[in-house]
Amino acid sequence: MQHNYAQIKFNQQGTPIAESFDDVYFSKDDGLAESNYVFLQNNQLPDRWHESSANTFVIAETGFGSGLNFLVASQAFLDFKQHAPSNNRLTLHYISIEKFPMRREDALATLAPFSGLSLCANLLQQWPINTEGCHRLFFRTRQTDITLDLWIGDVLEQLPLIQTNKNGLVDAWFLDGFAPSKNPEMWQQALFEEMCRLSRKKATFATFTAAGFVKRGLQSAGFNVEKRKGFGRKRDMLAGTITEQNAYENGTLARNKTPFYNRDPNRVIAKQTKTPHVIIAGGGIAAANLCYVLAKRGVRSTLLVKDQQVAQGASGNPQGGFYPQLNAQASVISQIQLNSFLFAKRTYQQVLAAGYEFSHQWCGVVLIGFSEEVRKRQSKMIESGIWPEHVIKSVSPEQATKYAGVELPYPGMYVAQGGWLSPPELVTALIKAASQLTNVTVKTDSQLVAYQSDQHEGITVTTQSLQHPTRPQDAISADALVVATGHHTNDLVGFADIPTALTRGQVESLPPQPSLSHLKAVLCHKGYLTPAIHGRHALGSTYVKNVTETEYKDAEQDKNLAMHARSLQACEWAQNLEAENNGRAAVRCSTPDHLPLVGALPDLAHQQIQYKNYGGKRPQTLPQGPQNVENVYMLAGLGSRGLTTGPMMAEVLACQLLGEPMPLANKLLDALSPNRFLLRALKRG
Ligand code: SAM
Repeated sequence: MQHNYAQIKFNQQGTPIAESFDDVYFSKDDGLAESNYVFLQNNQLPDRWHESSANTFVIAETGFGSGLNFLVASQAFLDFKQHAPSNNRLTLHYISIEKFPMRREDALATLAPFSGLSLCANLLQQWPINTEGCHRLFFRTRQTDITLDLWIGDVLEQLPLIQTNKNGLVDAWFLDGFAPSKNPEMWQQALFEEMCRLSRKKATFATFTAAGFVKRGLQSAGFNVEKRKGFGRKRDMLAGTITEQNAYENGTLARNKTPFYNRDPNRVIAKQTKTPHVIIAGGGIAAANLCYVLAKRGVRSTLLVKDQQVAQGASGNPQGGFYPQLNAQASVISQIQLNSFLFAKRTYQQVLAAGYEFSHQWCGVVLIGFSEEVRKRQSKMIESGIWPEHVIKSVSPEQATKYAGVELPYPGMYVAQGGWLSPPELVTALIKAASQLTNVTVKTDSQLVAYQSDQHEGITVTTQSLQHPTRPQDAISADALVVATGHHTNDLVGFADIPTALTRGQVESLPPQPSLSHLKAVLCHKGYLTPAIHGRHALGSTYVKNVTETEYKDAEQDKNLAMHARSLQACEWAQNLEAENNGRAAVRCSTPDHLPLVGALPDLAHQQIQYKNYGGKRPQTLPQGPQNVENVYMLAGLGSRGLTTGPMMAEVLACQLLGEPMPLANKLLDALSPNRFLLRALKRG
């Protein structure tokens, strides 16, 4: 969903002013000094960083504006890291919420005087598009990593969507957001209460305002509030600390509206003093993405790959289309798709920029309005106006033809940032990139056959060679196990009752041919067709439910070709495509609601008892005993959308394992929870 952009004018000193609020973004005299004094100094930064023994320091801000506070805080953090002892593991995570995002041009003009701040150019380069939800941006520097979560939307709507774990999340609050007299809608009691819900023990806040109702509101929400000297000509400002009794200590229930989707890991692996180690069963897109995001956090991993090489399952097709599947409502599924798509694109660009190659083309994707029904759906989507044109726009038959490079006498939609990638090459690139960051072991011909979990010790897994079944089994220990084995997910003990939907898909590998020589975008209708890689086009795909054979079938080639000819009836070139009975079949693992399964492995038998009286409501007391199998997690059900959702799903799981801020709204995380099907069944009675 898009929000209104900030309407900005600049005064004579070049300070931006929001027209609708008639207020400045920062001090006309010295924005940098104001930010340093009001927000950093009054939250005792950087002093608290020196004293911290944690892994992450989390700042949360109301009102991102131009990002100046973010840049100032980051600069201070980078300066601190430069002189910090080498065993200081602290990283900075900055969460900010913005209802009226600045256009990039306005941000460029606003930040021009601050271009000396280290992350300024990088922030402008990654400036997120205007669509609601969390935009996670990474800033990798020589000294440290800094993460920015920019949540687009109203503070009062977005804060409740931020997931917190049982020890809280935020260490310091920057309460910006225009003067309370000019923006009373934001300065509500609900804001102060959300601050309390999200605060960690000893969390502090600072704000430029000294308004009495803000002071009283913060006090009644649970903060000690002090009036302090204001910046420059301002007499007073407020700052303070969460009170002892309100610092969170009451267990998950008070903070979590859906405790039955408990995402608190039973042990946060980063708390260990040694380098944490995760075993990942699987060798496809899910496993490789997880290995990469863990490596970025210094977590080493061992990949258990049952085949002789990685990417031999559904991630082995030579080309895959890359675009978000959106519909006319900002449904949970669409929001996950869009957030994931934008995140995936940034991830792939980072991997490429770091020098790890994989075949790809950001050539755009044309979603062809090939039937009346599809055209209606597409018109509805455009009329709804909820998706930014930057992501998806409607195209006439002429425009579709121009983008595609082949005659397309259909209107449609165009995803300019999309394209295609080679999944197996991507898998290799991600694992290589991860290996440069930390220790990664890829054990091929190793099938996971059993695991034994121990609350304190972590997990020990047993593996078996498929090539040499008589060889003795191997045992490996780690802090956690993640099962990312695609359509083999249900094979393991404890996973049998997790609902999955398995579908065989065959993709044709077409030879070069004159009618496709100018094809320059991915075409999607009922099936898809890609520009050539290494001289071959991919044309897909069949969907054969509950079939797990993977040998190539000539009859399915005929089905694929016939489906293309039928969908694109008005295209002469699509009627006689040349094929050679050459292609590849694999099995996709999806789920009954088409959303992935990400999180702890639920102890379904136990939960069935724990939640037997659950009617879709929050329990009054937390159920006794473990909800989940300790130290065992899953990352599955990506279906045929792994290129779009893989990076984000891996990021979600890494954050869960490490107790870090989540990159998606809690209602979207709930929709990914592996126990959701059980809870739905219990709700239905
Ligand atoms: N921190 C910013 C910076 O470093 O450039 C300046 C923030 S400016 C004083 C206030 C910001 O709060 C504006 O960008 C405004 O659009 C945003 N804002 C106002 N009301 C809001 C609300 N209800 N939810 C989210 N953001 C809001």
